[in-house]
Amino acid sequence: MIPISALLPDELAGTLQVVPAYRGKQIFSWIHDRLVFDFTVMGNLPATLRRDLAGRALPIGLREEARLEDADGTVKFRFRLLDGETIESVILRDRRGRGTACLSTQVGCAMGCLFCRTGSLGFSRDLDAHEIVDQFLLLRSCGPPDLSSVVFMGMGEPLANLDNLQRTVDVLSYSGFSPRRVTVSTCGLVEGIRSLGERKLAVRLAISLISADSEVRTKLMPITRSNPLPRLRQALLDYQKGLGKRITLEIVLMAGINDRSEDVEALVGFVQGRGGKQPLKVLVNLIPWNPLPEFPYKRPEAKRIEWFEQRIRQAGIPVTTRISRGSAVCGACGQLG
Ligand code: SAH
Ligand code: SF4
Repeated sequence: MIPISALLPDELAGTLQVVPAYRGKQIFSWIHDRLVFDFTVMGNLPATLRRDLAGRALPIGLREEARLEDADGTVKFRFRLLDGETIESVILRDRRGRGTACLSTQVGCAMGCLFCRTGSLGFSRDLDAHEIVDQFLLLRSCGPPDLSSVVFMGMGEPLANLDNLQRTVDVLSYSGFSPRRVTVSTCGLVEGIRSLGERKLAVRLAISLISADSEVRTKLMPITRSNPLPRLRQALLDYQKGLGKRITLEIVLMAGINDRSEDVEALVGFVQGRGGKQPLKVLVNLIPWNPLPEFPYKRPEAKRIEWFEQRIRQAGIPVTTRISRGSAVCGACGQLG
């Protein structure tokens, strides 16, 4: 069976060898506009073609295995992949009722960040583009609210799976979902950021900075060793020069670990640039650490978080604190897996 959710109309026609070519457009529209994943009800296709396609093409390859709903409106899905692996995706709802889809790009993650549940699972494999698109389609098809944005903040490191990420963004874009509504979050892979810039995907970029103190960051995020902060900063500057957009810096706050005075100072220095360096255009997003059993961290007290936020604001840097949603179903950041 051929998975087809990540194919564009002309590719559908070509891969499935259906004529005339406009059949590709019709199939694409059934799947992506009407969210119909069953060939037998695709009414404008000839009955013989419907039967034929049902036997050899797969509009959706993921199977929903579990759905957990939090009282705050967050819904976490567990999906089974064709090879038996599982991944998770989440719908988050803001106060105005708008929905955000949080999608995974890998089974597990190879980056091993110490504070992250997915990181503790290790890496199994990259997701194929159709497995990423499938998550989006299944989340959309589970009903209102309409999804107003997509964030790649589920399992895995999106920039370590850039070809499949790009293909997903292209398919979403073709179906009318603008890349400007897509945020790609990365642990800070310098080559990946450069490559993302070269590809000129119009997505938003978020960096899990966690700390701008090199020693603290290296301890918490081992990839800092091969992607040191000065190189990361330069890659962000270059990216911004090319695309001009504000970058989000995500700081997962852990008590006594990265909520110290030194961490604020380092962060302000990283953003403003010292010694004549160019400043970065950013929004700092503070995320109080979401508790995970058997992890040695604690979320800072509310007062400490306010203090941290205030210090950043005083330096003239825009900052917000993300209210955790979905923690009751382990659907919050870093709790997937
Ligand atoms: N690999 C990418 C995207 C997935 S992680 C990245 O690292 O950016 C998604 C977000 O969850 C990141 O900002 C990460 O820093 C955050 N996160 C990980 N563990 C967390 C935890 N226990 N509590 C709160 N946020 C966490
Ligand atoms: Fe991977 Fe991101 Fe978790 Fe780090 S924070 S282990 S990069 S998913």
